[in-house]
Formats: sequence, C-alpha cells, structure tokens
Amino acid sequence: MTASPRHRRHFLGQRPVRNALLGVGVLLVGAGLLLPLGDATSTLPAADTQQITLRLSDPAAAATARPSQPAPAPASANPVNTAESQAPTIDWQRLRVRSGDNLAAVFKRAGLTARDVHEVVNASDEATRLTRLYPGDEILLHITADSGLQRLRYEIDDTRTLVVEPTPAGGTYTTRIETRELERRVAVAEGRINTSLYHAGAEAGLDDRLIMELAGIFGWDIDFALDIRRNDRFTVIYETLFRDGEKVRNGRILAAEFVNRGDRFRALRFEDADGRSDYYTPEGRSMRKAFLRTPTDFTRVSSEFNPNRVHPIYGTERPHVGTDYAAPPGTPIVAAGDGKIIHRGRKGGYGNTVILQHGTRYTTLYAHMRRFASGQSTGDRVQQGEVIGYVGSTGLSTGPHLHYEFRVDGVHRNPRTVELPTAEPLDRRYQADFRASTDAWIARLDRMSQTRIAQASD
Ligand SMILES: [Zn+2]
Repeated sequence: MTASPRHRRHFLGQRPVRNALLGVGVLLVGAGLLLPLGDATSTLPAADTQQITLRLSDPAAAATARPSQPAPAPASANPVNTAESQAPTIDWQRLRVRSGDNLAAVFKRAGLTARDVHEVVNASDEATRLTRLYPGDEILLHITADSGLQRLRYEIDDTRTLVVEPTPAGGTYTTRIETRELERRVAVAEGRINTSLYHAGAEAGLDDRLIMELAGIFGWDIDFALDIRRNDRFTVIYETLFRDGEKVRNGRILAAEFVNRGDRFRALRFEDADGRSDYYTPEGRSMRKAFLRTPTDFTRVSSEFNPNRVHPIYGTERPHVGTDYAAPPGTPIVAAGDGKIIHRGRKGGYGNTVILQHGTRYTTLYAHMRRFASGQSTGDRVQQGEVIGYVGSTGLSTGPHLHYEFRVDGVHRNPRTVELPTAEPLDRRYQADFRASTDAWIARLDRMSQTRIAQASD
C-alpha cells in the first residue's frame, strides 16, 4: 500500500509518537518527489541554528525550568555524578546490558552470586525494575574484595537513578531514587526549503522527531506533500535538555512559524492548569481541525468536486458532489471527525456507504466501500481517525476508490477546499495564562522575522 504523506500528516496530529519514525521516511519521499524542482544548482543558505541559554524573563520557559545548579565538574576519568565523583576512591564497574541478558547474567560477569541477585531485587518495589533490563542499559557496581557489593546505580530515565546499598546492619539492601532535574535551555532553528521539509529541517539542526512534530503542528493547514514550495521557510523555538552541561536530548517545540507561499502560520504551545497541552494560534485557536481533510490514504485524486461533470458511466451531465480518491482495494477509510454513524449499509449507486453526523451542521459520506469496519453499527459514535470501512468498488464505480462528500447545513461542499472548523478553542478561563506564557515567544518570532527582512534588504 502506498503511504501517502497527505494521509500520514493527519495522523501526526493525533499520534505523533507512534508514527514518528515511519512518518519521516514518508515525508522525505513525499515532499521530495512532489516538490517542483527548479534549477538544481541553487543552494540552500546555511541554516542558522543557535543555542540560546534559558532566560528566566521568558515566562513560558520559566514556568517549566528549574534554576540550574552550579555543576562542579571534577575531571574524574569516569564521573558518575557530582556526589559520587567527590569520592574518587570508588572504583566503579560499568556493565552494559547485552541482548538476552538479565540481572543474573550481569551480576555473574561482575563476580556476584545468585544470592546477591535475589537480595537486590527483593530489596524494595523499586528494585524490581532491575528484572526488566533492556539491551544498552548500564549498571554501575561498586564491589570490594572483602565486603562484596557496596553500591549499585542504575539510570531509570533522564532524571531518575536507582541506588542500591547494603543496610548498615548488613545482610540486606536498601534502595533509594536519586532525582536530578534536567536543565532546560531554549534553542532556535531557522530553515528555508529547497527540496523538502525534511532536508531543510535536518540542515537547520532539527532531529527527525522535531521535524515530524513541526509537520504535525502545521499539517492541518499546510499539505506538506502538495503545498510546499521552494523558499517556504520556518522558525522553530524548542527546548533542549541538559544535564551537567551536556545535552541529553531535544525537548518540545515551544513556538514555531511556517511561511508557506507567502502565508504565515504561527503555533504556540500552551499547557493549561489541568496539564493538557496543545498548540494554538496567537489568537488562542487550536491548530487542529475538527475534520481531517482526507479520510483515506489515497494515491491520487481521481475525480474532483465538480457540479457540472459529465458522469463517467451515464455520459450525461451529472454533478459530482464529492471528491474521488483512488486507492488500492482494502485501504482503510477513517472518520474525518468525531461523530455518529447515521447510515451504514448499501445505498443505491453509492454501494456500501457510511454517513456520519458531526454535531448539528456537518455530515460526511463515504461510498463504494468493499466492506465496513467490524464492531460498529448505526447509532454508534466514532472518533476522528477511527477506521469505519475499507476502499472498494461497490455500487456504480469504475474502479476502487473512495467517494467522499462533505455537507454543511445540508449543502454539498468541496471536501478539498471547504474551510474546516477548528477543534475546541482554548478555554476562556485560560486566556490570561495563555497570553502571559506566550507573549515572549510571539515577540521573539517577530524579532526574528524583522531581522530577516532587514538582512534581505541589505
Ligand atoms: Zn465520486
């Protein structure tokens, strides 16, 4: 099945993590192939990536940041952390978990016994984590000739380390979790598209995940397969996470701007008091839409919405009140928006058809299905992105495709161009918080575009 970038991008908004890896390839191929390539000799201007140290005057950053701790960095050959490396006499054994390993195998390599394994993993609930090791994990052991295991350290994640030590009385072990917050810094990347978003993002220093996140944020407004043009540009303000002065990984996108064919889009990340986070326009509207533009993974648009079309089978003028998306038989068809199934069955020339009602004003129709999704019936509620059936050629159809209709107040509209309503806007009670936490990002995006204009006119 051909994975269309147009389709994937919709899912990015819903399940960015799950599709992240798959999506990068798709985006790369899609955008690269479909972008009209002009003169191949022009080169991309060097992307301007810079690390900016967190400034506490940025409220959005200050809200999540912890004051960075003065990090004494002793030049120990094998620094484990600040506390440990202040005791230079500790001779750590660093053991890497291999494929097929368990704690017993690791302990055995270090000269410890099955009894040690038993005592350590039974020391506490936290210690049972050591029974779920993954290849590549590291376990640090401090073992002395006379007293055996004196300390074990295991990094659970970026911020938490499990420490196991013998109880002072001896015989058993105690455990504790050491936590160290990561220092958050803000980084900015800018890029200009020459061949694809993926290439431009990589040149600007963004990793695959950030590029996909960027595409997911703007994917409701911009079709990254069909709409991207050379010289479209983007600015991304994102978090980078540091520990002891070393970068651990990139964090989230805090704010971003994308200029597509001269149209400027901006997105700002906001987390409300209930911990829900999403991206909003500077006016507080959700970046997400209530409807997917295209409810299937199509290979091409085989027939556009056209009120004056000559019907391919009847040969007479017959309006085409939907859009046809050619796709291999069996391709999943998903609900374009949250809604209720009001029809599910045969419907004349439409063949196997599902009609969804979305609130009071909108209905969507999906025709010529080979079969329906199992476990659903008329009256059921479905969610945006949920599979409702599979592409087929039932009814009056010249080949496998999805015929898709979009109605507003009962009137057929072109599914490809109709203005789609946005998802829930920001709750009114969060407006003040939103302003306070995003004004700094807007100001920074403004400054950056002014700088760009000034540079361009030099
Ligand atoms: Zn059709």
